[in-house]
Amino acid sequence: MSLNCHRRIRYPVALASPSISLTFLGAAGTVTGSKHLLEADGRRILVDCGLFQGLKELRERNWEPLPIDAASVDAVILTHAHLDHCGYLPRLVSAGFRGRIYCTPATRELCSLVLPDAAHIQEEDAREANRHGFSKHSPALPLYTSVDPARALTQFQPVGYDRPVPIEGPRGSDQGQTRVRPGSDPDGADLVPTVEFINAGHLLGSAYARVRVAGKTILFGGDLGRYGRPVLPDPMPVAEADVLLLESTYGDRLHEPDDNGDRLAAIVTDTAARGGKLIIPSFAIGRVEEVLYWLKRLEAEHRIPTLPVYIDSPMAIGALQFYSSRLTELDAELSVSEVGSQRSGLRDQGQRPQAMRHVSAFATTRMTTIASPQQSADLVASRQPAIVIAASGMATGGRVLRHLAATISNPKHTVMFVGYQAAGTRGRLLVDGAREIKLLGRIYPVAARVERLDSMSAHADYRETMRWLSGFTRPPGMTHLVHGDPAALAALAARITAEKQWPVHIAAHHERVEVG
Ligand SMILES: [Zn+2]
Repeated sequence: MSLNCHRRIRYPVALASPSISLTFLGAAGTVTGSKHLLEADGRRILVDCGLFQGLKELRERNWEPLPIDAASVDAVILTHAHLDHCGYLPRLVSAGFRGRIYCTPATRELCSLVLPDAAHIQEEDAREANRHGFSKHSPALPLYTSVDPARALTQFQPVGYDRPVPIEGPRGSDQGQTRVRPGSDPDGADLVPTVEFINAGHLLGSAYARVRVAGKTILFGGDLGRYGRPVLPDPMPVAEADVLLLESTYGDRLHEPDDNGDRLAAIVTDTAARGGKLIIPSFAIGRVEEVLYWLKRLEAEHRIPTLPVYIDSPMAIGALQFYSSRLTELDAELSVSEVGSQRSGLRDQGQRPQAMRHVSAFATTRMTTIASPQQSADLVASRQPAIVIAASGMATGGRVLRHLAATISNPKHTVMFVGYQAAGTRGRLLVDGAREIKLLGRIYPVAARVERLDSMSAHADYRETMRWLSGFTRPPGMTHLVHGDPAALAALAARITAEKQWPVHIAAHHERVEVG
């Protein structure tokens, strides 16, 4: 009760036209840490709750206290399960957040993999830092521990696509029961905020969150997917919103034109001819599926040799199963290819066969999943030519580090990056041509070939973004650009202004704007 009284003083609900504001607590002027605070009619709703990643000065923001009390947040809405959109949730929960976490069912499934894994990695990193004295802090602490994701997962409230639902307060609170009554005030403004998820085609379960509050429609774009790509459907069109938050990751760039897998085929074939390994650092969810789609297709078309393919990531294996169980939410082509894949020779180390049967839509001819650390160590030591897919995608941590340490200094191997590489990450250093790289506390000279396949990005480039914007039949009253580096933000703002004459604003960190 004291919480409500407190809030009534700060945010009077009796105003004739309720104040609505947005505060950008992350992914403003940068691509990670998505957190957008919507305050309306005395309620606080946090849309996305992501980790800052990449440069040290950004990562250090994860340790700064939020400018609001976590316990005062009524609800969280998640657009998708990438860590830069959901990875701060356990920290928010450990700081006292007890509200519901709205997302699609698939986002909840993927969060059940990525959040415990993130806690595990942070605990491991803190342990390593303490063991080797890496950290200037003594002792080094994890941002959160395994207890926190477990608690966060109990607060999830999955909601299917295209179904507006009221945003309720914490379970069992009087706030949830007394304030959440659908209806309209005498001026026709909605009394109860609602959220609706619309498929964004960026990751399994990914969505734009359409929030309706006090007569306004605010579309939180999350991350925008791409058109005509395998695995995921095209982003759904949206016709109107009063306010739009739009990501700008590739606001200044175009992806390579689709080459029908030619470059990947050349990289695989060349590496095999040298007798080397192809190491693919990959985001454990999303990118693994697309890489496997292409490898499977190139094998079927006899455009690459049939090599052993190892998935060395328990999280990727779990995600593959979720993808395979939700083919109806994915690109229609996958359901068709599933029929032909039953003959594949999928092998399984450490997983029950019945569980693995469900990933056949993605299985290459000689695919093996690696579960235990010992099997992973054996694979690192193996000299057999192979394709190894391991997390993390920007080589910031995870099992791929040991694979890189074993291969990066030998020219017969290839390291292929397949997604966005944030500034400050090992992945970015390598694709920018670093001659040496630090891995697990040691410096290694770089002699392996380093390749980058941008065509597998899950983010729309600026042409695709403009195509999606063309679906609007009425310009948004304001388009706030988020989730981009400064050059990309400026370029996309200039393009929208020039081509559409829409009002555009580049969000700044901790900036608060009124939604008029
Ligand atoms: Zn994303």
